[in-house]
Amino acid sequence: MKELTEIKYWIFDLDNTLYSGQTKVFSEVDKKMSSFISEKFNVDLIEAKKIQKEYFYEYGTTLSGLMKKKNVNPNEFLEFVHDIDISWLPKDEFLRQELIKIKEKKYIFSNGSHAHINNVTKQLGINGLFDGAFDITDGDFIPKPHINPYKKLIHKFNLNPKQSILIEDIAHNLEQAKNLGMKTCWLENDEAFAKKDADKPYIDYKINNLPSFLQKINVLREY
Ligand SMILES: [Mg+2]
Repeated sequence: MKELTEIKYWIFDLDNTLYSGQTKVFSEVDKKMSSFISEKFNVDLIEAKKIQKEYFYEYGTTLSGLMKKKNVNPNEFLEFVHDIDISWLPKDEFLRQELIKIKEKKYIFSNGSHAHINNVTKQLGINGLFDGAFDITDGDFIPKPHINPYKKLIHKFNLNPKQSILIEDIAHNLEQAKNLGMKTCWLENDEAFAKKDADKPYIDYKINNLPSFLQKINVLREY
């Protein structure tokens, strides 16, 4: 754990990482994806959900599948699915305080859009605390876990992967981070898809609460 006080670049996934997966934020996005598919292709919501999940598992994101198989305009999709009301999501003062104490560089690395990143971080009260964000458009719509967006992230922010850590709720998204030399940290959760690779050797740390984890490192750094 002490080695983490040497980390110079903190990279955070957004959804179900910077806020708990117990909240219903992502299920709002999920529902919007189903209605997008349903409206666009004139199928009922059950069929739409099936297509959505099929593409998610096969292509990494539903959007990737829609682009490849159905020629969907990615910007239209992103605008639609991220237009969600999350005004009920409480501020996370604990997370805010611990992020402020990290004086090293902090980035968000998401398969969502910049609009979504801004919406969520504002609502949590942690906007303005990051040095940058990398979204699905920065990755030319190629999502994690494909290696390309990781390489582009490193390039965009000129990070040294050997001094970086990625924190993620989807275990498999840590594999390429590790291959590129980063430390990896999995946020434990019970989502079957997110935990299915949780016992893989490319995971360095497993945590169950992000602000408490950051607090531990912040305390260690003081000594
Ligand atoms: Mg996530």
